[in-house]
Amino acid sequence: MKKKILVLYTGGTVGMDYTENGLMVVPGLFPSQIKSLAPITNVELELIEYADLIDSSDINLSHWVQIIQDITTNHDKYDGFVIIHGTDTMAYTASMLSFALIGLKKPVILTGAQLPLVHRRSDGWSNIIDAIYSAMQEEFYEVAIAFNHKLFRGCRAQKVSTNKFIGFDSVDEEPLAEFGIDILWHKRRWLKLADRIFAPVIPLDINILCLSLRPGYTTDFIAQTLNNTNAKAVVLEMYGSGTIPLSHKVLVDAIKNATQRGVLVLGITQVIEGRVANEYANSRLDSLGVISGYDMTPEAALAKLWVLFSMNLTNAQIKSVLDMSMVGELTKVI
Ligand code: ASP
Repeated sequence: MKKKILVLYTGGTVGMDYTENGLMVVPGLFPSQIKSLAPITNVELELIEYADLIDSSDINLSHWVQIIQDITTNHDKYDGFVIIHGTDTMAYTASMLSFALIGLKKPVILTGAQLPLVHRRSDGWSNIIDAIYSAMQEEFYEVAIAFNHKLFRGCRAQKVSTNKFIGFDSVDEEPLAEFGIDILWHKRRWLKLADRIFAPVIPLDINILCLSLRPGYTTDFIAQTLNNTNAKAVVLEMYGSGTIPLSHKVLVDAIKNATQRGVLVLGITQVIEGRVANEYANSRLDSLGVISGYDMTPEAALAKLWVLFSMNLTNAQIKSVLDMSMVGELTKVI
């Protein structure tokens, strides 16, 4: 039986062309190019080109709502979904979809390219084929990024290069598949079918602030911001294994002040690989009310908070879900 795959084309380098003003998305170009893909047996592709094609730096809530609605209405009609997306914010969209598509029963695979398809050496062709193969997999019920011959869990992936084909990596989690001459499907690492109905969350316009600690004025600025923000939650990117300058009383007081006002402060590490742990005096932050984000990426931390706050939960309920893995976004080391 032929698999039916729906391709949602949002924009990004892969479908861009070189213009006087730099690389730009050109309506109609991508659909005409993928017609020349060598036919894949056993698959029927349908494509929706969005009216508002974007460089993915322009992504906003309305685009995410559109993608979530399109997957929701078509979930039962297709075997899988491929989302063509710019690389700059692909990890944010992948994280948002990972949390929002609660109870997903089909593969949702994002991909794009470092070089546009109009370029002779574009990586787009193999990325698209790998994404389609992944979207055809049975027993794959999650959101992932297919890039540079690997398949990464969507809520673990990060953009790691602007100028190499590697593009993405997920350093705290092994890839879910590798596309060499042979394809290795690492099924042991795939999420099991969720024992719940497919009930996506439509993300709302929620004020969540992301702050990254730096020595000097930035630390003072973060303290001021924490004292004044009306954000519901803050993703605080701390140093190393979750350390902060405890000697900086103004910052420490500001964190306490924020958490006592009910602002959820979720602490993650700004280091690419590794996790928040309480091995240092400077990383024992329970008394300040900081919640551990374990080894979550900044993209996943933002998206998880965003979705949870869109679900009409109490702060206590949100805190308890933050402490567990929803879709493989974190690993707790005991
Ligand atoms: N600026 C582009 C985008 O994110 C980069 C890319 O697609 O590789 O849309």
